Amino acid sequence: MRYEKLAKVYDELSGTSKRLEKIDILSKFLEEVNEKDSDVMYLLEGGVYPAYDERKIGISNQLAIKSISKSTGTDPKKVVIEWKKIGDLGEVAKILTKGKKQMTLASHVLTTQKVIENLRKLTEFEGKGTVEKKLSLITELLTSASPIEALYLVRTLIGDLRIGVQESTIKYAMLKAFFKNDKEYEEDLQKAIDRSNDLKEVFESAKTGDVKELEKINLEVGKPIKAMLAQKAKDVDDAFSHLGIPMAIEYKYDGFRLLIHKKGNKVTLFTRSLENVTKQFPEVEKYVKEFITGDSFILDSEAVGYDKKTKKYTDFQAISQRIKRKYDIKKLSEKLPVEVNVFDVLFYNGKPELEKPFKERRKIIEKIIKSHPYKLITSKYMETGEKKVVEEFYKKALKDNQEGIMMKNLDAPYKPGRRVGNMLKLKPDTSELDLVITGAEWGAGKRAGWLSSFILSCRKENEFLEIGKVGTGVAEKETEDNKITFENLTKLLTPLITKEKGKEVQIKPKIVVTVTYQEIQKSPTYKSGWALRFPRITVLREDRGTGDIATLEEIEEDFKNSKHENWKYG
Ligand code: AMP
Repeated sequence: MRYEKLAKVYDELSGTSKRLEKIDILSKFLEEVNEKDSDVMYLLEGGVYPAYDERKIGISNQLAIKSISKSTGTDPKKVVIEWKKIGDLGEVAKILTKGKKQMTLASHVLTTQKVIENLRKLTEFEGKGTVEKKLSLITELLTSASPIEALYLVRTLIGDLRIGVQESTIKYAMLKAFFKNDKEYEEDLQKAIDRSNDLKEVFESAKTGDVKELEKINLEVGKPIKAMLAQKAKDVDDAFSHLGIPMAIEYKYDGFRLLIHKKGNKVTLFTRSLENVTKQFPEVEKYVKEFITGDSFILDSEAVGYDKKTKKYTDFQAISQRIKRKYDIKKLSEKLPVEVNVFDVLFYNGKPELEKPFKERRKIIEKIIKSHPYKLITSKYMETGEKKVVEEFYKKALKDNQEGIMMKNLDAPYKPGRRVGNMLKLKPDTSELDLVITGAEWGAGKRAGWLSSFILSCRKENEFLEIGKVGTGVAEKETEDNKITFENLTKLLTPLITKEKGKEVQIKPKIVVTVTYQEIQKSPTYKSGWALRFPRITVLREDRGTGDIATLEEIEEDFKNSKHENWKYG
């Protein structure tokens, strides 16, 4: 397929903010996509690999600037000046390509296959000469690109497509294109997406218009899927009314989500944002092999840190460095040990278990796991219909240094990636949100050279809306228990800067932080319509992505709940 055809679709999509119009545009396009071009599904999502794949294009702004300069014969300084003026490197590429095109006649035809081929190669290089090789691959594409192609190529390269399309938009477009928009098939499509995490695979099955083809799509051990997410409960009665009586209750461990895959002798561990962290947790790999029986399985768990001497559980922050650590792994695993608390099973010995009621799934994990405290255990669990029992359990969880409790519907299936009301959390402090940093200000005086004041945003579908500014919680010097420093955040955020104006910078949404606050207020200042009073960054959530942050609806809900004060326990 001509890349120009896709670029025009991108342009049409960004020309409307209406969801139904986007679905319409996409469904017409999908009808025309042949099977041999089905890789364009990845390009529609802004990448070149399925969602489950860790490889990302992720080109720095600097490299994009160099390529634009080379392909259009423009001085790099001029590219930077234009960028500061316009704020979008894609638009800069478009304008400069327009200028160049008037002078040259030679123009090659760019195909989606060629774009994908070069972009995939970009993710493969490592070591010496990488920058030069990448530069030449990008320049090759940009030299052949028309202005509109250059715009979307550059946006794809820097991971900022801005067409306002989500996975769900694509799902509805497929429903319209291949199932006559019949809502009866929506759940089948959703299930296929949940299980494969690969829109190309789903597209190829959906295109047949035969729901049986969708049903053939299944979980695969070693291929990460999105974890099921929880909603908040107002109190125990609220939980009973949503989950039924009796319900299951478990500790809500203050660690990080770990999805455990095993096939034969191969163990793979994934975080909630689908990152492969097997290398970082060699001891967990050992526990899985030793304490769990089965040839193949996918289990869901929470890894939680504990103090080696006192055996007291620690919070997430205390062990967060283990997730990204690439060196001295053994030493760190001894210093910061984790206990894995398994609470669900999705697949066992060749069979998917997602559809089974939760109480059946619980029975499976109890059967296959030999619990070893401080190594790997089945999560603390009870089934009860009594409010008093839940309250006692809740108090015990807090005393045990955990965040609170999880309450689960005993009959519900496992729904990957969705915040369905089958699993509700109860924590004492609801004045806490996970948000993403979308802007900052360069500091002055003592903080010169550092980004100092950070703009936080929540999410509305895939739009990011500002909700406040924060500097509190960030330290000037790193200490044993606080790694959130201006220097560290500056290092993480600088490569993500998309626009600079005076002291202010715009940042590509990627870095997720937990923020506590005293109150949510209505506010005309921020685009979300809300502001946080006395926000404070407490945790850098390197295990989470933008899909995990608070949504506008959740914030509205928090605001409503704070009005009639929540159920609190000490
Ligand atoms: P939150 O991060 O507050 O939205 O809470 C959801 C997270 O709690 C999940 O993603 C898990 O990482 C974590 N969690 C801790 N204990 C459990 C449990 N027993 N069952 C399910 N999730 C748990």
